[in-house]
Amino acid sequence: MRPPLLASVILLMAAFPAAAQQPGKVEILWLGQSAMRITTVQGKVIVIDPWLKGNPKTPAEWKDLSKLGKVDLILVTHGHGDHVGDTAELAKMNNAPVWSPAGLQDTFITLGILPAELAPRMNKGGTITPLGPDIKITMTHADHSSEFSYVDPETKKRSNQVGGEPAGFIIELENGFKIYHMGDTAVFGDMRLIGERDKPDLVMIPIGGHFVMSPQDAAYATREMLKPKYALPMHYGTNPYLKGTPEEYKAALGTSPTEVLMMQPGDTHQFDAPARDVTKKRG
Ligand SMILES: [Zn+2]
Repeated sequence: MRPPLLASVILLMAAFPAAAQQPGKVEILWLGQSAMRITTVQGKVIVIDPWLKGNPKTPAEWKDLSKLGKVDLILVTHGHGDHVGDTAELAKMNNAPVWSPAGLQDTFITLGILPAELAPRMNKGGTITPLGPDIKITMTHADHSSEFSYVDPETKKRSNQVGGEPAGFIIELENGFKIYHMGDTAVFGDMRLIGERDKPDLVMIPIGGHFVMSPQDAAYATREMLKPKYALPMHYGTNPYLKGTPEEYKAALGTSPTEVLMMQPGDTHQFDAPARDVTKKRG
């Protein structure tokens, strides 16, 4: 007969397989550049911009895509290689739908990169609920470009394909926690609208400069427009152009109440349900 203690431990492990994620919490795993795995309160897994195998900042263990576990949904912000990355392989492994700018979805289907059933279309301003009514995903503006560079597997010829309009995503989870993954972007004035209307709890914000905001730009956007409780700086240090550092971002924020998460690729962070009364005061 199995000892009852061992049986309950096994049951507990089955109930919470995602590396000791605590009940009621949201977990973020950052894998370098803009690659994120979000595990929701109810254990749904959303992966964003999965550039892992070719990403110099992704820890070696995470280059095995199966290590991500079951993936329910993939979001891609735009057509650049450091964001599309391993999307197709991950989507097919998990039979998980990919949502990216509509023009990029068309290109994925036309080139046979994804089957149509894994590449549905949406556009900016639209909100989708593919993981159930309690998880709302809205596509937002990003001020960037989105050409998709494609190498034909047979001829090895490179061409630039339609990549749609670059985007960001606002993800509202079951407990009301709101994450704004900004994609690649310059500062734009409607970040103020997002700050006022959507009130993100956590922003995943590019800080590398050159192709995206500098640490100073990102600090301005955070302090003056978005006003989130937490900020996770991303999209830096993967190539010589992306010189901005989280230390510079933090210094530029000054006395802003936003808490900067100083994470390394491969780190996780867990969040409680948001206290909405506090958020209202900030708004
Ligand atoms: Zn880009």
